[in-house]
Amino acid sequence: MPQETVGFVNLEWTCKRCGSKNPGTTKICSSCGNVMSSTDKFELPVQQELIKDEAVIAKAERGPDVTCKYCGARNAADAKNCSQCSADLTEAAARKSGEVLGAFSDEKKPDVKCPYCGELNPATALKCSKCAASLAQRPIDQPKPARPAALTQGNRIGLFVVAGVFIVAALVCGLLLFRTSDTSAAVRGVQWQRVIKIMEQRPVQHQTWRDQIPANVPVGACELKVRSTQDQPAPNAEKICGTPYTVDTGSGVGKVVQDCQYQVKDDWCAYTQQEWTVVDSVVAKGADANPAWPTVNLRTDQREGDRSEAYVVFFTSDGKEYQMTVANASDLSKYVVGSRWKLKVNALGGVVSAEAAQ
Ligand SMILES: [Zn+2]
Ligand SMILES: [Zn+2]
Ligand SMILES: [Zn+2]
Repeated sequence: MPQETVGFVNLEWTCKRCGSKNPGTTKICSSCGNVMSSTDKFELPVQQELIKDEAVIAKAERGPDVTCKYCGARNAADAKNCSQCSADLTEAAARKSGEVLGAFSDEKKPDVKCPYCGELNPATALKCSKCAASLAQRPIDQPKPARPAALTQGNRIGLFVVAGVFIVAALVCGLLLFRTSDTSAAVRGVQWQRVIKIMEQRPVQHQTWRDQIPANVPVGACELKVRSTQDQPAPNAEKICGTPYTVDTGSGVGKVVQDCQYQVKDDWCAYTQQEWTVVDSVVAKGADANPAWPTVNLRTDQREGDRSEAYVVFFTSDGKEYQMTVANASDLSKYVVGSRWKLKVNALGGVVSAEAAQ
């Protein structure tokens, strides 16, 4: 997904020695003089504000600061010699960069009360304006960028239990259905039904993209809908961007970016065309061994549709009734009324198979 730069914000770092917060662009703790090390991390400030100073932005764009391998001091990406010990920086390692520090929000945060003297200070202040105490102990409630909710361990166990119960239930049902008993029965009767559908040309409404409507068909109402999403802009595309978030540039300044895509819209239209549609059906049924198709009287604007057939044999055994469907008329003709059959019957009373009794 293409990333767009929204701007840059000042970061902070916390001194390991005295706990004071310092602006990201400073390299030495303003309270105790401790030097920021390569393992000290940049953090999002409570109050994020887009930087307007072009010089600070230009410096951030030159890349992450480098760490002097002799004294450990932070130096600008393009510095030739260490500002602390004057050592050559040509082989100095760059600070880590690219880490997402959190969601960006320039919403005004309320003033903070100094825990020592009670003075109200702006949310951006790192030190009290009255007593110069460090304001580092403020709680930081930076929302992290939303991550898809993962299944918790508890949910997962729950899912396994549900799946287990389901599988056991399915197995029990399966076993019951597969366990059959033999029954000797006589054919009490048969039934058959044959159906022919009747079709006519009728207007049928559909919806599709304008360029997929068949030729010479009247187009109905259309509406703009998202047809595809792409990384590149297009004439009829709408730009959709995610929540801006701040990325560590390694220079004490964070880069605020957002991921954007383009939703390409197109006409989604209704259209109506004449199609062969089932309007009626004719049915023939009987209880004999000679099934026949119903007579169809078609008008000139009609035609026959699908045909379907169904055949059922009824058995009786010691006062109990069983029934079984068969596939076609030729199978049905084997079940002469009064003939005796050996049935395999499952636990639900369904006939699984029938075999002519000797
Ligand atoms: Zn310090
Ligand atoms: Zn140095
Ligand atoms: Zn104070």
